[in-house]
Amino acid sequence: MCLVGRVGNTPMSGSFADGFARSRAGDWARKAQGMLAGFPDGAAGRAAGLIVACYEGGGKVLACGNGGSAMEAQHLVAELVGKFERDRASLPALALHHNPASLTAIANDYGYDNAFAHQVDALGSPGDVLVAISTSGDSENTVRAVLTAREKGVVTVGYLGGNGRGGRLGDLVDVPVFLDAQDTATVQVGHLVLTHAICGLVEEALFPNKAVFLDRDGTLIVNRHYGSDPEKIELLGGVVEGLLKLREAGYKLVLVSNQSGVARGYFDELAVARMHDRLQRMLDPHGAALDGLEYCPHHPEGITHPYAIECACRKPAPGMLRRAARKHGVNLSASWMVGDIEADIEAGHRAGVRSVLVGPEESPVPPDYRATDFTDAALHILESSAETHGTSEQSTAGLGS
Ligand SMILES: [Zn+2]
Repeated sequence: MCLVGRVGNTPMSGSFADGFARSRAGDWARKAQGMLAGFPDGAAGRAAGLIVACYEGGGKVLACGNGGSAMEAQHLVAELVGKFERDRASLPALALHHNPASLTAIANDYGYDNAFAHQVDALGSPGDVLVAISTSGDSENTVRAVLTAREKGVVTVGYLGGNGRGGRLGDLVDVPVFLDAQDTATVQVGHLVLTHAICGLVEEALFPNKAVFLDRDGTLIVNRHYGSDPEKIELLGGVVEGLLKLREAGYKLVLVSNQSGVARGYFDELAVARMHDRLQRMLDPHGAALDGLEYCPHHPEGITHPYAIECACRKPAPGMLRRAARKHGVNLSASWMVGDIEADIEAGHRAGVRSVLVGPEESPVPPDYRATDFTDAALHILESSAETHGTSEQSTAGLGS
C-alpha cells in the first residue's frame, strides 16, 4: 500500500509520508535485517533433517499455531503438499486449524486449549512430525499439542521467538528453532524465512535426481501394432548410445509406456513383463538398462476386468511420470520426457518436465524440442543440461543430524 497520495480529497501530509512514516517503516525492516543476520542455520537444518527422516519413513507433517502462526502453519503445509522450488511428488502435511468444523467443535466441547491436542491425538502417528509455531512459546493450545505429540511418539519441531528460551515450548520440543527478536512481528518474519529454508532443504534431500522419461514403441523400439512378442523387439538406431550418454550425465532412465492391449484383451500383464524383461536384457550388456519401468494397462473402452477403466496413468495423463518421480526421488523441474506422439508431449507438460518429440508425427501440444531421431534427442538434452548446470541443478546441501 502506498502512503504517499491522497486520502479522500485531502493530500496526505508531506511530513507524515516523507518523515515520520518513512523512518518508522524502515525500523521494522532494520529489525528484521538484524534478526536475519543471526538466522539459526544449524537448527533449521536439524528441523529439515527430522522432516526428511519422517517422509522417508512414510510419515506426515502436522503444523499448528494461532493467528499469524496459524497462517505460517498453513504456509508450510502448502509448500510441502504443493511445491516449493521443484516440481516433484507431493508430500503429506496438514495444518490443524484447517477444518473450522473440527476446530470449533473441539473448542466448544473441550475448550480452546485442547483444540490442537485433540487433533494430534486423532491424527498423529509415531514417526510423524508436529511443527509447533508460537512467537511467545507459551500458547497453551500449542504447548498441549506438543505434550500429546510426545505421548504418541510424534517428533516435534518448534518455530519459536527470541530471549534465548522460546518460552515453555523451548524446553519441550525435540528441535527448537529460536528466531532472535523481542517483538512478535520480527519473529514472524523469521518464521517465514524458516519455512522456506526447511522446504528448500527437504526438496533437495528427497528429490535430488533428474530423469529422462522414455516412451517405448516408436521411441526406443520399432513400433509394431500392439506388439507383445519379445523376439520381435528391435531397438531403434542411436538408442543404446543415447541412453548411455544420458546415464553418464546423471539422468535416471525410466520407461513410461501405454499398454492398453491389456485392457483390450490382446495380451496380459505377464506378456508385458516378458517384453520388458527382454528389452532390459538387450540393453544391459551395453550398460544401458533402464532404472525404472512403468506402464499403464488401462483403457476406458477395454473389455478386460479390471483394466477397462479411466485412469490417472494413461498418457497424456501424467500419473506414470509422477509415480516414477516418487519412487526414484526425481526433481521433475530438471527432467525430460522423450516420445513420438502428442500424448507423450502432453504427459510431460502436465508433469512439469521438458519434452522432446522424435520422429515424423505432429503434436498440437508443442514440444520443447523436435528431434529427428533418438541421437538428436539425447544430444539436445545433454546440451540443455550443460547450459543449466550450476543453476537449477545444484547439489544437495547437508542437513545436519
Ligand atoms: Zn492407467
